[in-house]
Amino acid sequence: MTVRVRIAPSPTGNLHIGTARTAVFNWLFARHQGGQFIIRIEDTDEDRSKPEFTDNILEGLTWLGLTWDKGPFFQSQRLDLYRQTIQTLLDKGLAYRAYDTPAELEAMRNTMKAKGQAPRYDNRHRDLTPEQQAAFEAEGRPAVIRFKIDDSRTITWKDLVRGPMSWQASDLGGDMVIARAASKTTIGQPLYNLAVVVDDMNMAITHVIRGEDHIANTAKQILLYEALGANVPEFAHTPLILNQTGQKLSKRDGVTSISDFQKMGFVAPALANYMTLLGWSAPDGQELFTLAEAAKVFSFDRVNKAGAKFDWDKLDWLNSQYLHSMEPEALLELVLPFLQGAGYGVDLDHDRDWLLPLMALIGPSLTRLTDAVDQSRFFIAKTVDVTEAAKAQLQLPGVADVMAAVLSALTAGDPLDTPAALKGVVNQVTKAQGVKKGLVMKSLRAALMGALQGPDLMDSWLILRQRQFDLPRLQQALGIAKAD
Ligand code: GLU
Repeated sequence: MTVRVRIAPSPTGNLHIGTARTAVFNWLFARHQGGQFIIRIEDTDEDRSKPEFTDNILEGLTWLGLTWDKGPFFQSQRLDLYRQTIQTLLDKGLAYRAYDTPAELEAMRNTMKAKGQAPRYDNRHRDLTPEQQAAFEAEGRPAVIRFKIDDSRTITWKDLVRGPMSWQASDLGGDMVIARAASKTTIGQPLYNLAVVVDDMNMAITHVIRGEDHIANTAKQILLYEALGANVPEFAHTPLILNQTGQKLSKRDGVTSISDFQKMGFVAPALANYMTLLGWSAPDGQELFTLAEAAKVFSFDRVNKAGAKFDWDKLDWLNSQYLHSMEPEALLELVLPFLQGAGYGVDLDHDRDWLLPLMALIGPSLTRLTDAVDQSRFFIAKTVDVTEAAKAQLQLPGVADVMAAVLSALTAGDPLDTPAALKGVVNQVTKAQGVKKGLVMKSLRAALMGALQGPDLMDSWLILRQRQFDLPRLQQALGIAKAD
């Protein structure tokens, strides 16, 4: 038997972290089993489904490296298949048309609530006579199609994450709506639970891996599989992702969509790695791995039942591990859009030669790609704004002479394009001026970077020199130093 799994997002919003994490688990399981991973877009909700969300979802999955083997299939293109199945259920007497108005349903629920009962459909249109049906039709009432649920049933399955599961059919809310906007002769609009079962059967899905918020749907869907005489797939319900206070992670927690994480400067392998750890742990306790490495050892035995707390510090740590180990070329490719987005006006044709050493310089101190924007700002323009603290440094006694001496050493003719050569200048000026080396270094930093903090001074200086920005900045510093 070939393992076949699927991710079935609804394109009613951008790719959500919960959906992406479910996709990760599906992908890992498929790859571990040598099976197939299928994408199905559940776009039957015409009002809320948007093509731009489908694009965002597919781009996000691609970005994360969750390659798929088949699809994307679109439910909106498969409505006839669902309608045929509903017709089969109607023909077998397993489904029926119900004509309750919203007001009647509301009144029914209110009566139940008043009696202290859980609101449910009381199956009142299950056995309408042809005359009653004709009367409702004559009134012009639209119908829904309901699938009969035998309340006496107990539905059981062995969940791959949660173990033996059992649901009372009587807790499913009465006969289930499988299509709406139907009429005497038409089926109307097929709904989620029916479409999912038809597709999972039709696509020969062997394992349905999805969030635990779908457990009640699973109970309903098992009844549909049985009614349709189909094999029931295996189910694995993955834990929810929770915020720090233990609530389900939601929009209120800031970011929830994969494109938001992307904009915040997380890199795909780090985010995929982190999502794998949201509810699963590697047998050897290893925390840093690629999806392919995780796939080798993935199993549902190691997926937790309890909700997985989202931990920003951990995600940041993982992200920094990936950034720190990246070659300058690869890092530059990822950082460039952020620099451009900040309006730095850099491009690969003109700036590659100094951007590469800059990546080597700042890479090891990045946590997120966005940090590169702040750390690069010293290198973008010929001049920099000088902070008050840097000004104060430049105005200390003796600094004007130090600046002048550095400038004359730099203009003496030697190329001075290695760290050793620049260190030589520092040593020479320190000695000649009879000052402390710390004063020279700190003043140089204030002059070259306009600030007292920043990346390694000598490496920064080399890049500024390569850009021919060091002389103008030292001249500017000399002006400040002499000002008082
Ligand atoms: N469209 C459903 C969702 O986005 C899919 C559920 C399923 O995997 O069956 O939650």
